[in-house]
Amino acid sequence: MLFEQGPIRPPSEAGSLLLRFTRNCPWNKCEFCITYKGARFSKRSLDEIFRDIDAVVAIIEDVKERSWREGYGGQITRSLVSEILRDPILHEQYKHVAVWLYRGTYNVFIQDANSLIMKTDELVKALTYLKQRIPKIKRITSYARASTLVRKSVQELKELKDAGLTRIHVGMESGCDKVLKFIKKGVTSKQLIESGKKVKEAKITLSEYIMPGLGGKEFSKEHSKSSAQILNEINPDFIRLRTLQVIPGTPLYDKLIKGEFKPLSEDEVVLEIRDFISRLENITSTITSDHIRNLLEEVEGNYPEDKQKMINIIDEYLSMSDEDRQLFRLGRRGGGLRSVKELFFPGVREKLKRAKAELEKSEGKSIDEIIFEMACEML
Ligand code: SF4
Repeated sequence: MLFEQGPIRPPSEAGSLLLRFTRNCPWNKCEFCITYKGARFSKRSLDEIFRDIDAVVAIIEDVKERSWREGYGGQITRSLVSEILRDPILHEQYKHVAVWLYRGTYNVFIQDANSLIMKTDELVKALTYLKQRIPKIKRITSYARASTLVRKSVQELKELKDAGLTRIHVGMESGCDKVLKFIKKGVTSKQLIESGKKVKEAKITLSEYIMPGLGGKEFSKEHSKSSAQILNEINPDFIRLRTLQVIPGTPLYDKLIKGEFKPLSEDEVVLEIRDFISRLENITSTITSDHIRNLLEEVEGNYPEDKQKMINIIDEYLSMSDEDRQLFRLGRRGGGLRSVKELFFPGVREKLKRAKAELEKSEGKSIDEIIFEMACEML
């Protein structure tokens, strides 16, 4: 291994260089989450982190030398990167850096689940070294737990910002204490507000993740209402929707099997999101729907000006007939549709109707069961 990388990143960090400062999740108890189950959390020493940064720098230099050797004049071209990707000898991390150079974002995402758990002075040293060694870096982002952020002072967060940390992603999931407790988030709504305000005061960009559907049938109303209330208080830069997927192997899945968690249907989740969006007010956040699990990925925009536009998109979906909503869900989960309007492009409905009939016949199941299975595979 050339340098260490963890398993996940936020969808918005698809073009970022992934660097691991800590391993796994120090909490690891959220009942819907499977990412780090069975993996122990550990901190990495500064020496290890510096060695990894040096390894990335060595790859950058090697890719540039290769470009000269292969006649690309030091440029990171598509042809050069294609050759690198095809080379069976080269390591995955080498390829990752080559693609990163080609994309030219110069964004870095620090893994894993809660890098802010590092001592502030150590994290400052690691960030400073990273920026010294790769001066072209523009943005450095990380996940952080609210319960960790509340233990940092605004001054410490400002030091991290000065060292290069530009954005923090917080998996808030819900603003409702009952839901937070039910899914063992280990965080309270009070901590969510305090942590969010501190990050904003330190002038670090704040991205809060909300999980529609997480309250199930029992807490759906309170989940959307309290989540909106908390976010109205924080006014984060980004509110990102990531619809719940109950994954086999998680404690939440066991609760579902035992009947202790009653999930919402896809249409109920859409209604919940409508309620949530309607309740957001006096904020200037950007809503994004950049997760594959979201049914209506076009529900995106800036507050306050796009609020009604987002509600209109939801209403357009909800006003369709049962059959059309089902066809849309089939098209969306099958990967073909990205917006409600596309359902009415010439020939699309007819094609989906044929697909529905063929699938029901070949699978011997109802189309709703098939759509559910398709959605489960979209992780
Ligand atoms: S804090 Fe994040 S990574 Fe850790 S268990 Fe919860 S959801 Fe998973």
